[in-house]
Amino acid sequence: MSKNFRTLDDVDVKGKRVLLRVDLNVPMENGRVTDATRLERVAPTIAEISGKGGKVILLAHFGRPKGRDAKDSLKPVATALGHVVKKPVAFAADCIGATAANAVAAMKDGDILCLENTRFHKEEEKNDPAFVSELAKLGDIWVNDAFSAAHRAHASTEGLGHKLPAYAGRTMQAELDALAKALEAPAKPVIAIIGGAKVSTKIDLLENLVRKVDALVIGGGMANTFLHAQGIGVGKSLAEKDLAATALRIIEKAKAANCAIILPVDAVVAYHFQANAPSHAYGIDAIPADGMILDVGPQSIARIHSAIDDAATLVWNGPLGAFEMAPFDRGTMVSARHAAARTKAKKLISVAGGGDTVAALNQAGVADDFSYVSTAGGAFLEWMEGKPLPGVEVLKQR
Ligand code: AMP
Repeated sequence: MSKNFRTLDDVDVKGKRVLLRVDLNVPMENGRVTDATRLERVAPTIAEISGKGGKVILLAHFGRPKGRDAKDSLKPVATALGHVVKKPVAFAADCIGATAANAVAAMKDGDILCLENTRFHKEEEKNDPAFVSELAKLGDIWVNDAFSAAHRAHASTEGLGHKLPAYAGRTMQAELDALAKALEAPAKPVIAIIGGAKVSTKIDLLENLVRKVDALVIGGGMANTFLHAQGIGVGKSLAEKDLAATALRIIEKAKAANCAIILPVDAVVAYHFQANAPSHAYGIDAIPADGMILDVGPQSIARIHSAIDDAATLVWNGPLGAFEMAPFDRGTMVSARHAAARTKAKKLISVAGGGDTVAALNQAGVADDFSYVSTAGGAFLEWMEGKPLPGVEVLKQR
């Protein structure tokens, strides 16, 4: 694949002050990091720059503070990161000004320093030019390794790329390579599986996908809206009936673009929205008026499987049913395992992303068997919507 952005292969970092934007927004409880996945993801870039004799100066946001707020300090995260990278990670209590400048001045080649939460300054989210200049003073180059924050044009995620030579970190590079293989220059045919609760949050995404993929499987609560729009009774199921016209428009666009829409042909119906509620599978034209569709049915699963078998590339976002409650996780679990098996057999390139989707793949025990799983929520969805991501655009070679 021709890459149109600069990476760490294009720069000698030795002796340079490297401002490295990372995602350190980890879940914390009582001052302790409860899930270090994000720290593990950025560790290779940190280790590489440090190992090559660069000075690693970490920039990141944490939470949504309004001004300085001790509960959103990155200090405990810096300590946890030190354990992951197995090197000391120093900390400076501000990301600009004398505190930051003195800490940077004290660094030796290979040292790692984490600066305090960039969002303690309101100028960060405003991409304020004076704030960008203050940050830029601390570094010689800027490396962006935070794909998950790339849909935001903030000072540390975008602004710096206009001030300093800009490069993609290894995690960003891997993410961009995987995404390019999934939608920009994919092996064909391409299938997308889109599920989740609502159509309203995924209209742009569906409209972009029907132009790009050969087949689109629609599952989850959002399938009910499409079924209703086609005159099928969905009983008491979750459905956005006011979006019937939108659903029909998406179906028309799919037809015009030669994209097959694959909707459920049967469904698992229950009468209570709770785990292990008594349930039964019905054909899609026989959904009981007082029932709720909580998962795709066995015939739909078989259809999804053969669609996966026909595809060379799969993009997946959103569960096919209410996967948090047994037995309504079945459609999602079985389909995820099928996609994982095809991937392992080298028949399929599979890319998945979004918070619930990652949770579902973990629940199915197959997250590691997919070609790529993106942990970025908002940025992954905006990428699926076909929107340019400011933090990625700024890395492109000009
Ligand atoms: P989203 O955040 O839009 O991807 O939606 C994920 C949520 O959709 C999960 O919490 C699922 O439980 C829920 N969901 C999926 N299918 C259904 C369904 N048929 N009825 C109600 N909720 C569903």
